[in-house]
Amino acid sequence: MTRPALPGQPGQPGQPLRLLIDGAWQAAASGALLDVTDPCTGDVIAQAAAGDAADIDAAVDAARRAFERGPWPAMKPAQRARLLWRLAELIDQHADELAALETLNTGKPLKMARMFDVALSAECLRYHAGWCTKLSGETRATSLPGEWHTYTLREPLGVAGLIVPWNVPLPMAVGKIAPALAAGCTAVLKPAELTPLTAVRLGELIVEAGFPPGVVNIVTGLGTTAGQALVDHPGVDKLSFTGSTAVGQRILASAAGNLKRLSLELGGKSPVFIFPDADLERATDAAARGIFANAGQVCAAGSRLFVHESVFERVVQGVADRARRLRVAPGHLPESEMGPLISQRQRERVLAYVAGGIAEGADVLTGGAALPGAGYFMQPTVMARTRADMALVREEIFGPVLSTFAFGDEEELDTLAARGNDTAYGLSASVWTRDLSRAHRMARRLKAGNIRVNAAVAPDFAMPFGGMKLSGWGRENGREGVESFTELKSVAIDLNP
Ligand code: NAP
Ligand code: MG
Repeated sequence: MTRPALPGQPGQPGQPLRLLIDGAWQAAASGALLDVTDPCTGDVIAQAAAGDAADIDAAVDAARRAFERGPWPAMKPAQRARLLWRLAELIDQHADELAALETLNTGKPLKMARMFDVALSAECLRYHAGWCTKLSGETRATSLPGEWHTYTLREPLGVAGLIVPWNVPLPMAVGKIAPALAAGCTAVLKPAELTPLTAVRLGELIVEAGFPPGVVNIVTGLGTTAGQALVDHPGVDKLSFTGSTAVGQRILASAAGNLKRLSLELGGKSPVFIFPDADLERATDAAARGIFANAGQVCAAGSRLFVHESVFERVVQGVADRARRLRVAPGHLPESEMGPLISQRQRERVLAYVAGGIAEGADVLTGGAALPGAGYFMQPTVMARTRADMALVREEIFGPVLSTFAFGDEEELDTLAARGNDTAYGLSASVWTRDLSRAHRMARRLKAGNIRVNAAVAPDFAMPFGGMKLSGWGRENGREGVESFTELKSVAIDLNP
């Protein structure tokens, strides 16, 4: 793979990536920069503008103007739909380049970046393009005395602040921009400090697609400065955040100022249940993919595996075998099946959970160590003799580390589901069984926003996605996701004034 050209510097190769504010590319007001590194080597590969409160102010002002004046609010839903569709086409046209950039910045396998991150981003835009023309209020049958015309109006909320993490940078950015724009909002995006490359390239494609200036603004920078400024900003009507529960809780407190509408898509510690009547080969494959894909840096990763005792050895050894065979390598190499963790800090965090588990009596069935050499690679890891009280089992690790548990015949579904629900999180859960009654009963008992039966995570934009408990607030995707960027007004007209 030849190294892709970096974005954000038309005609000026080697220049730092800039901010997109009001349709123009500019340096941070302070002139500050942040280093962008390749997690496969630790080398600095680019610099990006480190925006702060001043740049967020400018971006929010631009988004406000674009929301209230100019072409955007005057645009018909069908015109907005065409713009979103046009952006999807541009993503398709630049798919190889975007995948190469995503791989450069995250180290993830290039084929995954191409098939998953980039392809789904284009699909996400097409799905949401359809919603532009389908959002509406409705008339209501009221029982007021007299003769009335009563109806609801669904209107865009205004300026949306969008804060995203580094694990799947492009789909996260698109996944928030698309519903915001479909609803008629304007947006300020704050990418993760570690992964600004595809966000900035996306900004260039947004300009090329013909979105009016200020409709999408992109401010790279730190969470504690740019992110916090966006959260605190009284000019932001809605904040949609994906990231850690700790930051989500902080955002909740900060957003109290102007009672911003909030969507919080936070962490998870998702259980996977495999019953003996399941297709065990498929279930084992999916269990391995569910924790090792993207090096486990997935909010919905299946990080707690519960297997019936009669097939426990077979399934858990099967996952461990797959872990041993998985080729861990820089994502630009064709053989790569798992890339590095995103940073030295993240790898230290993940390894500390493994070490903590061992100290508390867990065994390492396979993996458990950093790979020697450059970059932040580690072995895909399967742990045995894990207990529900271990930090390894209770906390989100966000790495390729699986905890495993056996369950017995005597266990009622209530008890088993309770073991799955014994977590502060409630994002996803999967159940592998051919017994339909058992599948439905488990789906009812599990406290998780997203349940899969005989399937791993199956992202589909028609399906609402989000969490219960500490996994967050609200749902993304589907009608609910777009509507979360709208406000509902009710209008009652007395027809006999
Ligand atoms: P994070 O700090 O929550 O980052 C998510 C986003 O929020 C980033 O853009 C971040 O900026 C920004 N941010 C940080 N502090 C902020 C603040 N005070 N106000 C506004 N925005 C702020 O997550 P992380 O540090 O990247 O990862 C830590 C852990 O979070 C992971 O180990 C994992 O457990 C969890 N996580 C979950 C998801 C998910 O999909 N649910 C995704 C990523 C991480 P910076 O990039 O500058 O920090
Ligand atoms: Mg952070």
